[in-house]
Amino acid sequence: MSGLSLNGVTKQFGPFTAVDDVALTVPHGTFVCMLGPSGCGKTTLLRMIAGLDTPTNGAIVLDGEDITRVPTHKRNLGMVFQSLALFPHLTVGENIAYPLRIRGIAREAQVRRVEELLSLIHLPGYADRPVNKLSGGQRQRVAIARALAISPKLFLLDEPLSALDAKLREAMQVELRKLQQQLGITTIVVTHDQREAMTMADTVVVMNGGKIRQAASPIEIYRKPADRFVADFIGSTNLLPLTVESGRTLVLGETVEGIAAPGQSACSLSVRPEDIHLSAPGAGRLSGRVTFIRDLGGMIETFVDVRGTELIAVSTPRERPVVSVGQEVGVIIDPQTAVVLAA
Ligand code: ATP
Repeated sequence: MSGLSLNGVTKQFGPFTAVDDVALTVPHGTFVCMLGPSGCGKTTLLRMIAGLDTPTNGAIVLDGEDITRVPTHKRNLGMVFQSLALFPHLTVGENIAYPLRIRGIAREAQVRRVEELLSLIHLPGYADRPVNKLSGGQRQRVAIARALAISPKLFLLDEPLSALDAKLREAMQVELRKLQQQLGITTIVVTHDQREAMTMADTVVVMNGGKIRQAASPIEIYRKPADRFVADFIGSTNLLPLTVESGRTLVLGETVEGIAAPGQSACSLSVRPEDIHLSAPGAGRLSGRVTFIRDLGGMIETFVDVRGTELIAVSTPRERPVVSVGQEVGVIIDPQTAVVLAA
């Protein structure tokens, strides 16, 4: 198969398992974001793909070739790390040409390739500028161009945008994704920023405790989280206890049409804030009291206490029913969008 496969990849540091039996297939040309809390093992996994660490167990296969023990410089990779590691005393062009120069590529071919890459990263004519006179975003793009200079098979990035301010970072996410689509290069990015992952990835891989908890498209991760960890980690959600009493499923003590727990055991219900609708209170319907309203301009968050559990409902000003703090409201949960999760 063309692309990358991780087959039961494990990394132990002494008795500690940092990456635990990870299996993943990354088809050629796709963009994968590895996401998870600090210490979940994402950087260690990326380092093994890069050849900077060796797995304790398992195999890494690139385009059908087992590269588990192939040294980094023979893997044909492009890499960008948070630090960028540009040479501050060299020009933009010299930085980008560096990997070509050490491979002994002819001078004219280097110049042509640098020009090509500069236009790709929207910095045409920048070849002779000193790299230390560039803005943060421009330096970022130069680091990306340098990593792509050798036309790698695999493009690996570890927190590449985390040093940028929020606005620039969002712009660079879109730019990086467009560039990847234009080149069709298989790309793996480590990030702890879920918005970044949702913006760029074909597949988001959510990790925790060295294991993959879910690998799926951004929308599937958001709409159909595999477990409580994923539901809570991606976006914000309301996690409501589901109990079963005499065969009836109760959400916060009330039956909700269309929602049934599988089997008899207690579990929980994940409902995104935008999927909770407020109405007039009515019989046989969940109801609660408004405790707080946060008006963010474009959207309004309404906090509602339902039998001791605080729910958050989000709406736009246009959709919003007029409610005020202290008011009793009905709470409508759409069974189509709510997800039942094991306890
Ligand atoms: P962060 O977002 O904070 O960088 P991460 O998900 O990338 O976190 P890793 O850097 O992969 O996490 O680390 C996973 C775990 O392995 C951590 O508990 C870390 O302390 C441990 N670890 C990583 N490298 C080593 C090492 N060389 N020796 C011992 N333990 C290590």
